[in-house]
Amino acid sequence: MKITNLILETPYLSLDPVFYHEIDPTPLKNPTLVSFNPDAAEALGLDPLQCGSQEWESLLNGTLRLEGSRPYAMCYAGHQFGYYVPRLGDGRAINLGSINGWNLQLKGSGQTLYSRQGDGRAVLRSSIREYLMSEAIHALGIPTSRALALISSDENVAREKWEKGAIVLRLSFSWIRFGSFEYFFHTGRYKELKNLADFLLNESFPQFTAQEEPYRKMFGEIVKRTAHTIALWQSVGFNHGVMNTDNMSAAGLTIDYGPFAFMDTFESGYICNHTDTQGRYSYDNQPRIGYWNLERLAHALSPLIPEEKLKQELEQYKEYFTARLMERLREKLGLETAEENDSDLFRSLFTVMENGRIDMTPFFRTLSRYDKNREPLLALSLAPNQLNEWLDRYDSRLERTARSSEERHRKMLRVNPKYVLKNYILQEAIDAAETGHFSLVNDLLTLAQTPYDEHEAFERYAAPTPNRYKNMQLSCSS
Ligand code: AMP
Ligand code: MG
Repeated sequence: MKITNLILETPYLSLDPVFYHEIDPTPLKNPTLVSFNPDAAEALGLDPLQCGSQEWESLLNGTLRLEGSRPYAMCYAGHQFGYYVPRLGDGRAINLGSINGWNLQLKGSGQTLYSRQGDGRAVLRSSIREYLMSEAIHALGIPTSRALALISSDENVAREKWEKGAIVLRLSFSWIRFGSFEYFFHTGRYKELKNLADFLLNESFPQFTAQEEPYRKMFGEIVKRTAHTIALWQSVGFNHGVMNTDNMSAAGLTIDYGPFAFMDTFESGYICNHTDTQGRYSYDNQPRIGYWNLERLAHALSPLIPEEKLKQELEQYKEYFTARLMERLREKLGLETAEENDSDLFRSLFTVMENGRIDMTPFFRTLSRYDKNREPLLALSLAPNQLNEWLDRYDSRLERTARSSEERHRKMLRVNPKYVLKNYILQEAIDAAETGHFSLVNDLLTLAQTPYDEHEAFERYAAPTPNRYKNMQLSCSS
């Protein structure tokens, strides 16, 4: 199918107009296609070979209106850095409608009713980051929104310096946020709150619609999905950076990529967001913040379900989180079965990684080929003695498994990525794109989508991050 044959639906517009604002995108000057993602195009039913760059450009720039599309921005609120902000909303995102369950959204396509002081734009730098990282997170098996295509332009956008305006076309099964519920709760509109809960049930939790206590079950499932998603972030060293409740998906997805980072050297208190002076959203705080955010959601849902019942669901969070993380760590270490002391083995590994300033991605990848020869692993640590002691424990643990080393290696190589898009790697693609060279963006898309494969030409991106680029902080400006 061609882009022009797409037919969209707009179920969100069946809700009361207080939920959204219908607004057309404002086109950018001289749009240029930077990249499109054939994999996501196929998910929409498109044939990538039938999609020309001109069509992508006009779709993203808002000059091509698809059949059935009625563009709109969504209204929401949210807790930002712990403080409630009564109205946020899509200040620079415009929804086009949905197809095959995917809701299409342009980010950076101009002002809306919810733009507040903002210009409604997104710069090329942050758009490349979101475009590539959402695909990388998807390929790692972590629930997330995705990205279909990216355009740049000749439009100047003012940030710390002048930058180029860009638009990403992103896709998600849901764009409803914890903050969407908070908006209707805190304005006392309980009828709308219930309508939103019903909408979310149909959209993301249809299995509960015909059951008893559907809202309670839905909340329980949101708790579970959120815990699982964050457990997977922790397992790969992903730091989201801005876990405000308006950036928390009510379908448990990773959304709104901003100053995120894949950790370089393992550092439990790592803070990727330069604005986060207190470390509220540091790597090791993410699980706790997930819980705090769910408490805000529970409070917002309290007119629909007694808070006591919500609390019971919420109390499962820690168990969901721990079970998912332990399961993933067992896979990452190639352990076949669970043992009582596993959590201690895992905890001590994280201490060893921190003390040895170990880059976790190459470490787990090297461990995926480990068979008695410790040299390649010890070379990754500044505290090799501690690592040696940990490997003694690991060896004796492996002795109790029936699996052959070949089988263990094969399985570990499919769960420990060789490539994650660290910030310095993304920055190289951004620097090139800012001078009009987009090929690295496209190469990184391939790396992002096949993180477990070997890519000879990009071997250097699999090595520990060069010292000068380690664990940088990023500004929120985007
Ligand atoms: P974020 O931190 O990117 O999730 O943004 C927080 C809120 O600010 C959201 O409601 C955004 O839509 C809005 N926002 C961020 N940047 C802009 C911008 N340049 N123009 C308009 N709204 C923006
Ligand atoms: Mg946001």
